[in-house]
Amino acid sequence: MNSPVAKIKERLTIEDVVSSYVKLDRAGVNLKARCPFHNEKTPSFFISPDRGSYYCFGCGASGDIFSFVTEFEGLDFKGALKLLALRAGVPLEPYTKEMKEAESEKEKLYRIMEEATKYFENNLVESKDVQEYLKTRGLNEKSIKDFRIGYIKNDWRLLYENLRNKFPDLELEKAGLIKKTEKGYYDRFRGRVMFPIADSSGRIVAFSGRIFIPVLPDGSPGRDDEKSAKYLNSPETPIFSKNAVLYGIDKAKDSIRKNNFSILVEGQMDLIMSHQAGYRNTIATSGTALSDSTVSKENVVSNLGLIRRLSDNLVLAFDADKAGASATIRAGKIALSLGMDVKVVDMGDGVDPADLISKDSPDAWKSAIKNSKHIIEFLLNKALKTSNGDLRKAGRTIKETILPFVNALESSIEKMYFIKKISDTSGIPEGALQDDLKHIEQELKYEKKEIQQAQETFTKIHRKDSIERKLLGIALWQKTLKSPSLDFENILSKLPDVSKKYDDLAQDLVFEAEVFYTNNENLQKSVEEMFMNLEEENINVILTKKMQELGSGGEGAEGQKILQEINELNKKKEDIKNNRIKN
Ligand SMILES: [Zn+2]
Repeated sequence: MNSPVAKIKERLTIEDVVSSYVKLDRAGVNLKARCPFHNEKTPSFFISPDRGSYYCFGCGASGDIFSFVTEFEGLDFKGALKLLALRAGVPLEPYTKEMKEAESEKEKLYRIMEEATKYFENNLVESKDVQEYLKTRGLNEKSIKDFRIGYIKNDWRLLYENLRNKFPDLELEKAGLIKKTEKGYYDRFRGRVMFPIADSSGRIVAFSGRIFIPVLPDGSPGRDDEKSAKYLNSPETPIFSKNAVLYGIDKAKDSIRKNNFSILVEGQMDLIMSHQAGYRNTIATSGTALSDSTVSKENVVSNLGLIRRLSDNLVLAFDADKAGASATIRAGKIALSLGMDVKVVDMGDGVDPADLISKDSPDAWKSAIKNSKHIIEFLLNKALKTSNGDLRKAGRTIKETILPFVNALESSIEKMYFIKKISDTSGIPEGALQDDLKHIEQELKYEKKEIQQAQETFTKIHRKDSIERKLLGIALWQKTLKSPSLDFENILSKLPDVSKKYDDLAQDLVFEAEVFYTNNENLQKSVEEMFMNLEEENINVILTKKMQELGSGGEGAEGQKILQEINELNKKKEDIKNNRIKN
């Protein structure tokens, strides 16, 4: 019998899959597009329908429909398999049954999260007061169902008691649902409305719980046992990484693609209300790294990555409070540096999207989004308002807070446009603004480079990792076979550090390799190709380092030497490329 992968590949062509994410143009027998995996103006991303594969000459991204979906959606192999199987109408049952005994750790965690979600959903059905509360906040029944909102009463071991017979304690703890003390286990989430967070294929990976202590029979507010936070999120677990998931992405992605813009809000309620008001292209940062200022730029870049791959146009709608403003500024600046077009919704003081939609109307939200302004214009209006006609004060604010955003813009035409706009609105002469901008360019050169490097590093590490993992999976899978079809020892010997690094993922990787490469006649060739890609990635890493050395003062004989090394590395890359074309 054919494997599900083979069946899916029979039914879905590479053209079908990729064109549902990016716009393709014909280029002879091939198709081309602007690469979704790196920032570029002219297309260097090619698709070969004959070979069922893609390759980017700009960043080296390559693979088939599975690796495309994995990388584009930020999923693991099984998540991609689930999405594509659904799309191709290929059932996955035979495989899951077969694999049940050898269910990997991650799969177990997904199943636990699903069970917990169902438990919370059932609890909500029984809790009329919580339903009432959600309705007064503006949510309708359909939204509550669609977003699988649930509830857990304020007690110590309700979830634990419910799940302990189905799963080992250790697994429940790993899923971030229970905590341990000397007296035993207790629930992490208590007395909370539960919002499940799903990855882009719809699997529940985490929860965000909003405190809800019911009113006592005598009418007084319920006692709050601890100084509990209003919102409590799942900790990082093997299936939940704060930098990789945006709340609502599974429901929003098609609409973002179709409407060619996304709306980024802060909280779950904001998101659900926005979907309810007809803006299904809304995602939220809650429970994720984007709103957390302690999180590195790499993480913010990766968090914005999927949104950017779906559309370059981003509308930010954060609260007007201080935290909201600083999140707007941080996310906005990084998004601009990634080449996105960023607009901001003017929320007015003390209002959040959920308030606006529930108290006013969906129309108020609609017009707020329609009236959203480019982030630079938005900040400019705010600066002028607070300076009250004091031109010197306005000038200072513009220099300190607005020109850095102009500097973050990629295109010089856009830069010129905004300098003129700022000059027209503030009365500050263009020449003076140009001079200030030049100074800022100097001052912020480092920061801009840092963001670009963060992006490059992220892409590179990601790519190198995924190739290494695939190779490791193939080797480990072959090792389990009675008659392996290639020399797995040789592969393992070429990846000395890798197997240790992915020790806990070994079963997943074997599964992936098995599903993917069983009955593959070209396995040896695929492995060779992967080693070539890996070598290319390694060269790229060294090249970046050498370029930096050259940039930071490699002069004279030393500079000559670095230049020569760079030339040799480039030649090696050229050889690999030629080899690839010949094959
Ligand atoms: Zn690329």
